[in-house]
Amino acid sequence: KDDIKGFFRRNAFVIFTVAAVIIGIGLGFALRPYKMTYREVKYFSFPGELLMRMLQMLVLPLLVSSLITGIAALDSRASGKMGMRAVVYYMTTTVIAVFIGIVMVLIIHPGKGSKDEFKNQQKIEQVSPADAFLDLIRNMFPPNIVQACTQQFKTQYGKRVVHVKMTVNDTLFVLNGTQGQHIMREEVIPIPGQVNGVNALGLVVFSICFGLIIGSMKEQGKPLKDFFVCLNEAIMRLVAIIMWYAPVGILFLIAGKIVEMDDITETGGQLGMYTITVIIGLSIHAFLVLPTLYFVITRKNPFVFICGLLQALITALGTSSSSATLPITFKCLEENNGIDKRVTRFVLPVGATINMDGTALYEAIAALFIAQVNNMDMNFGQILTISITATAASIGAAGIPQAGLVTMVIVLTSVGLPTDDITLIIAVDWFLDRLRTTTNVLGDSIGTGIVEYLSRHELQSKDAEMGNSVVEE
Ligand code: ASP
Repeated sequence: KDDIKGFFRRNAFVIFTVAAVIIGIGLGFALRPYKMTYREVKYFSFPGELLMRMLQMLVLPLLVSSLITGIAALDSRASGKMGMRAVVYYMTTTVIAVFIGIVMVLIIHPGKGSKDEFKNQQKIEQVSPADAFLDLIRNMFPPNIVQACTQQFKTQYGKRVVHVKMTVNDTLFVLNGTQGQHIMREEVIPIPGQVNGVNALGLVVFSICFGLIIGSMKEQGKPLKDFFVCLNEAIMRLVAIIMWYAPVGILFLIAGKIVEMDDITETGGQLGMYTITVIIGLSIHAFLVLPTLYFVITRKNPFVFICGLLQALITALGTSSSSATLPITFKCLEENNGIDKRVTRFVLPVGATINMDGTALYEAIAALFIAQVNNMDMNFGQILTISITATAASIGAAGIPQAGLVTMVIVLTSVGLPTDDITLIIAVDWFLDRLRTTTNVLGDSIGTGIVEYLSRHELQSKDAEMGNSVVEE
């Protein structure tokens, strides 16, 4: 009996979260026949919206404090090596993801060379990949660090803010290269380079530099270092409290989405095949490639590792946002999987900002699907261009809902595909977004596990140097 009790106590969070998903799906389908109005759905999903807001509230201080403390706890040689490993991992897995996407879409060939089935065709404007690329770099260097933490919708182009505009089923989308906003009904969702209005990429670059400097200041830098360590700890304690609320929020997020989604039976034919292609591609990457990579490098069981992450993965599924999931991912990696805090603090925030395997895979499939629908044959050079721009677009996409749909514009423009056709895939994007976000979070987490394993010698020698195995507590 004690065993059963102990099991429940140890796994309470996971059990609650899985139960929330099941109840959420059940409740959602049970309420669908009542055809709630948009307003009613908004009221109904309110507890879910609150969860999103609570998690997003923590992202900014967590991102900054964890990066600074993570890096300041290492010497520059160790953090340099760790950073290199992380970047090699990010690039390798993203390229593999794009490759899987391309192979899948070429084999399955979901687009049959006709647009007759689609109702949502709209006219939208072009965006230049060069502008988008420059915006990405520009975002790395925020001119005002305080402003980078707050909402900023304008780009350097001033009035040329809106590049793409489309309305589908009452939903107005305003898309613009790598910066701007994406308006969905009454919600305003800022896009790439920014998380919830925050320029995450700029803050990551700033925090890395700041952490390196504090680390190199030795005794002099100690008060500042202690401040950020303390801030980080306080935020993590808040996360621990919010985690108790997470299952409730997830339940309503999922149920609310099911209540409001369009009839699935309408999504037949090519769009159905497209959805299946993305699902197969993501599954191969998440259940085969990433676990194999983890096993080959660390010789540890990847599925035990993934079980420890379950709550983060479900939160990603519920929120469609890898940055909102970040606080939970931290908890899972550190507490369930025992990953060294010096590694999670450094590697995880960077991964959540730039490493998006699921998004890259999806962008490649979506671009080639649109080519197929238009009966346009892509040659090897064009496919290569799609791979490169899909990788860049996944780096530029923010970890917020449907950011990947927006960065699609860059991929399509690079090979002359009609950007208007993004509207063809909008109907299923909310669903695919959840799946690719989950893959993104899994990719970041496995990367953290692998980097920790590869950096074990540096971590041990640092421990020996400090004469203490727990350095940062
Ligand atoms: N929603 C995804 C994420 O947060 C980004 C995307 O739209 O692909 O990771």
